[in-house]
Amino acid sequence: MKKLSVVIPCYNEEEAVPLFYEAFLKEVQGMPVEFELMFVDDGSRDGTLGQFEKLHALDERVHYISFSRNFGKESAMFAGMEAATGDYVAIMDVDLQDPPSLLPEMLDAIENDGYDCVASRRVTRKGEPPIRSFFARAFYRLINGISKTEIVDGARDFRLMTRQMVDAILSLKEVGRFSKGLFSWVGFKTKWLEYENIERVAGETKWSFWKLLLYSIDGITAFSTAPLAIASFAGVLFCVIAFAMLLFFFFKTILFGDPVAGFPASICIILFLGGIQLFCIGILGQYLSKTYLETKKRPIYIVKTKK
Ligand code: UDP
Ligand code: MG
Repeated sequence: MKKLSVVIPCYNEEEAVPLFYEAFLKEVQGMPVEFELMFVDDGSRDGTLGQFEKLHALDERVHYISFSRNFGKESAMFAGMEAATGDYVAIMDVDLQDPPSLLPEMLDAIENDGYDCVASRRVTRKGEPPIRSFFARAFYRLINGISKTEIVDGARDFRLMTRQMVDAILSLKEVGRFSKGLFSWVGFKTKWLEYENIERVAGETKWSFWKLLLYSIDGITAFSTAPLAIASFAGVLFCVIAFAMLLFFFFKTILFGDPVAGFPASICIILFLGGIQLFCIGILGQYLSKTYLETKKRPIYIVKTKK
């Protein structure tokens, strides 16, 4: 029988872990595979690890990795995929926002319809602050406009993949990981399942608006260099404008003389150009800092305990 590993990243999810375990087992009964549950404790400060230990003692299919500190969900997913031994690997949130009831359908599409991956996307953002939905939509429009890798709007990390695809993802060793892009970058035939947003079963979301904003910048710098080109275009554009103005003032002075005026306009232009320059240097800085972090080749995560 084939084996399905389920990777579950958890950060301060003490309440959700037992609920997930129960709901999961109920839904996957009767699926024609063996299971392995690979919980990842991403440096939780509550009793999450204790919950894993309990489950591990009860059920030998439960395994866990515990990080030395919080490395983020991206690192947790990577660690879980590295430790997974199954022929298929699924990634699921522990808060039951990723319904385990979709797993049989996912497995069927891979085993019988020749897909390499079945991914999920939510088509509604019910229960989310409207301002967040607005920025999320704007982000997807922007990144798909400037990146060759398709980033699907509303895509969750919840997906089931073949071993071949997982190995492809594991071969990408970058430290600044943006999985929504990596899953798409490696290619393979992906089927999309759509579902309505489900609210968390317990605990609360780990994403603040600020964290999401920084994450979106990571996504853009990881999958597009268009902002660098924008900086150069802005430079050329302003050179052209400056040259035109130079000609204009040269002839104006020759023809009409030069009464002293235009001080406010000069200040505005200086401030405006200063702003553009800082903005463009900022873009350069973003890419430089990412390059700097990658060249250090620090590990993606550090394990404290593993069972
Ligand atoms: N998570 C994690 N490390 C983090 C933040 C989150 O492992 O630093 C896990 C979290 O425990 C959950 C999943 O990632 O299982 C998704 O997090 P969350 O539900 O907060 O995100 P949302 O569903 O709101 O996008
Ligand atoms: Mg969630």
